[in-house]
Amino acid sequence: MPPPVFRFAPSPNGRLHLGHAYSALLNFDLARQSGGRFLLRIEDIDRARSRPEYEAAIYEDLAWLGIVWEMPVRRQSEHLDLYRDAVARLADEGLVYPAFESRAEIVRMIGQSPRKPWPRDPDGSPLYPGSAATLSPHARDIRMQAGEPFVLRLNSRIACSRAGALVWEEHGIGPAGETGRVAALPGAWGDVVLARKETPTSYHLSVVIDDALQGVTHVVRGQDLFWATSVHRLLQQLLGLPVPIYRHHGLLRGDDGRKLSKSTQATSLQVLREDGVTPQNIREMVGLP
Ligand code: GLU
Repeated sequence: MPPPVFRFAPSPNGRLHLGHAYSALLNFDLARQSGGRFLLRIEDIDRARSRPEYEAAIYEDLAWLGIVWEMPVRRQSEHLDLYRDAVARLADEGLVYPAFESRAEIVRMIGQSPRKPWPRDPDGSPLYPGSAATLSPHARDIRMQAGEPFVLRLNSRIACSRAGALVWEEHGIGPAGETGRVAALPGAWGDVVLARKETPTSYHLSVVIDDALQGVTHVVRGQDLFWATSVHRLLQQLLGLPVPIYRHHGLLRGDDGRKLSKSTQATSLQVLREDGVTPQNIREMVGLP
């Protein structure tokens, strides 16, 4: 049996906080306990928000925690062609269409719809109305050639019917206690964005491609991504990718009960370190031995 493969996949758009320390240490510990491998992946497809200094800080914070990762580190921004090819494959199968509306236009369309309340995805964002799916190929070509900005969306109706029923094996727990064999509900996300004109990929697409290419067998991450796994299962099925085991862990909360964010200075690992907190203290704070 090949060893299990775990990964920690932060986005370099802010300083890591206690919640990241928990996720990274948990992955690292699980890899060590199982004789497995631990990989680090930098999810930097969002060029506007990713900064080299945050990437450097990730290495510094993780090394300080005593975490050791395999080299080289995979950086998503270096593999855009791969993601572009995957979108092209899905497009060839009639599963993708360009949509030209701005966010403001989508909000206006939803406001004008007689359907109330308008359905929302598991993250609480309104579903895309699906209007661009019905544009003729000719109308699409004209708008693309005119240089209009667009996003490429997955046609979830066709995609879900082609993929059929999907499940995943959950070793952690979902927001409502879901565990074991969980039924994926990708339709709940509507026609998700797979790529943008300026960025040929999206979180959902690059995460499933990279987990497959890196041979990740166990995806251990925060519960806030639990239902995103539905979209990941759908894309794995459409692209013929292997399916890892998932373990979603509870999120650490601040004193105000809200989930920690990169902008909360008080729990940033750098600030804690400068205050004299030790890596062992961090383990105690996040409840790891
Ligand atoms: N890059 C994502 C984040 O920083 C995590 C992706 C994942 O673990 O699947 O929230």
